Parts: sequence; C-alpha cells; structure tokens
Amino acid sequence: MPFAHLGLSEPIVNGVERAGYTEPTPIQRQAIPPILEGKDVIATAQTGTGKTAAFVLPVLERLARPSDTKPRGPRGLVLAPTRELALQVEESVRTYGRFLKLRSVVLYGGVAIGPQVQALRAHPDIVIATPGRLLDHLGRGNVRFCDLEVLVLDEADRMLDMGFLPDIRRILSELPARRQNLLFSATMARGVEALARSLMQSPVRVSIGVEAAPAEGVSQALYPVAGHLKTALLAKLLEITPHKSVLVFTRTKRGAERVARALVKRGFPAIALHGDKTQSQRERALQGFRDRKHRILVA
Ligand code: AMP
Repeated sequence: MPFAHLGLSEPIVNGVERAGYTEPTPIQRQAIPPILEGKDVIATAQTGTGKTAAFVLPVLERLARPSDTKPRGPRGLVLAPTRELALQVEESVRTYGRFLKLRSVVLYGGVAIGPQVQALRAHPDIVIATPGRLLDHLGRGNVRFCDLEVLVLDEADRMLDMGFLPDIRRILSELPARRQNLLFSATMARGVEALARSLMQSPVRVSIGVEAAPAEGVSQALYPVAGHLKTALLAKLLEITPHKSVLVFTRTKRGAERVARALVKRGFPAIALHGDKTQSQRERALQGFRDRKHRILVA
C-alpha cells in the first residue's frame, strides 16, 4: 500500500519517498488515518517500528493546511525525553516536510538558551522539546501556546521513568484545552495509562505486536565468561567478526569509559557515549559513529 492511500497529500508523500520509503510500516498504517481524522491516539510502538513518521507525517499534514485565523504561536508541540530523540524527531520533520513551508525549532537543555530564543522569535509552526528546557522557555515568556492544535508525547513511558511527570503537567496547564493529543509509548505501564486518561477522553488505540523476538536478520549469541576476561573476549570477537558499525552497551557510565579506553588501547576506533559527557561531546560521538570515523560506540 503506498503512502498516498493513507490520505497524505502530495508534498508529504513526496517528502517520504525522497527519504527512500515507499510503503508505510504497520504502525504507520494504523496510526496515520485516525490522526488525520483529528482523533486523539494512543500508540504502543517501540523505536525501530517507524513510530516517529507515524506521528510526524499526519501532524505535518495538519500543519500544512492554513489555520482559520493567523496563529499567535506554534500549532504543534512534540515532547520527547532526551535531546537525541528531540533532534531525531526534528530531523524527521525537516526530511518529510522538505516540500512544505513549515518552520520547526528544537529545544533541549545543556546548551545555550540564546539561539533557541532567537529561533522561537522566528514564529515556528512546530516545537520539538524536552520538558525541562521547554518549561524554562515558558517561564521566561519566550513562547506561548495559545493557538496550539496538536500535542505529541513521544516515548511517554521513558519520560515518566525519567521523572518528567511534574514538568509535563505544568506544560499541559499552559496549553489550550481544545487540541488533538497523541501519545506514543513502548509500553502502557500504569503511569502512562493514567497520564493518557488525564489527557484524552476516548482515544483510538493502536498497537503493534511487542513480541520479544529479535528483528529479522539479527542473530543473537551469548558468551558466558569470567568478568576479568570480558574485554579480551570483546576484542577477540571484534577481530574475528566482519563489521561496519558496532554498538557496545555497558551497565554503567564508568564501564562505558573503561571499555572504550581498553578498545582504543588495542587499536580499535572506539568512542564512549554516556550522560556525563557534555552535549557537544555526545553529538560529536554520535556524528563520528554515523560517519564511521569511530566504528565502535560504547554506550
Ligand atoms: P523509528 O521507529 O521512528 O525510530 O524509525 C525507525 C527507522 O525506520 C528510522 O530510521 C526511519 O527513518 C525508518 N522508517 C520510517 N518509516 C519507514 C518506512 N515506511 N519504511 C522504511 N523505513 C522507515
């Protein structure tokens, strides 16, 4: 089924196709039609399912239509738990919206506030933000949402896990009561359900199977090994396994540092990524990984 059959208009279909996608994923097939109808939607979907486009595309569709009166502020707001995710959503907005004349701005903490204030002054149609920094801007009067039409909570479960509920509630109190609400979450933990109930009246629920099976084409292997031999085993595996990019996850930030350093010492192009790095270090690490300058990311 092509994207156009979902009710998306030509510039947006062209935007997705330019990104290289010809067919909607299951979550996109389920979520896009009710969102286009203006309904509140709760979607249970994990990262990797195409869930970002599942809300970005219909939200773009809505914002591409001029509003009845000249809006006095952003018409769309996406809240996301982390800077990385906020940046990713903004990139999707720009990619899929390349044939539209919409302005977006992304707001997150850990960087100077000045450029964000400037960007807000340019009348963005859509704001993508992490909750803390958005509250900061709201408190300073840098942005008002009196004409907001659609709110998206992306990775709602993660936002609650990270303790953002009070911030989210304060943000909600600044939004007009009449709006479309979209909630995306990997799980429907109890807190998420309660938040959804407080936001929406009779939402449409969509979900795709969340079976704990590895993605197709992925094989998994488990190596029982004594603690002091783990790094040596990892190095050996990296040596004998053909690879382009490798993600190594550790339990702690210090563990990530330690493993990355040990790999570099052995001549591997590894870099660590964790919450104690500065924002610019984190962005550099991710960019280096994308560019294959550092083929091994230890996070
Ligand atoms: P997400 O679940 O939003 O993190 O997306 C996972 C990945 O799937 C991203 O790299 C998207 O660019 C990609 N993607 C989104 N929609 C489609 C689609 N219809 N077909 C193929 N890939 C897609």
